[in-house]
Amino acid sequence: MRSTREATTQTICDCDDCLAYKLTVHIQRTATTQQAAKHHEEAAVEGWTDLEGRDYCPGCPPTVPVDGHDHEGLWAVVDDLPAA
Ligand SMILES: [Zn+2]
Repeated sequence: MRSTREATTQTICDCDDCLAYKLTVHIQRTATTQQAAKHHEEAAVEGWTDLEGRDYCPGCPPTVPVDGHDHEGLWAVVDDLPAA
């Protein structure tokens, strides 16, 4: 599920049992459509899948049955980032 506002763009995993989401806060503001496009581009790089308007986090590939999902979503990706 996607939510586009003036200062934020949010994608929530459409898998029923999953709470994963990706939220981008736009500090340097451009057109809302451009901000959303950048957000969805980043989500795709992180492993999110857009299937006919439904969004799935990296832990919930739509090609895998629900009981095969790890529902870790974004956090699985965050764990791989170097410590700040
Ligand atoms: Zn998910």
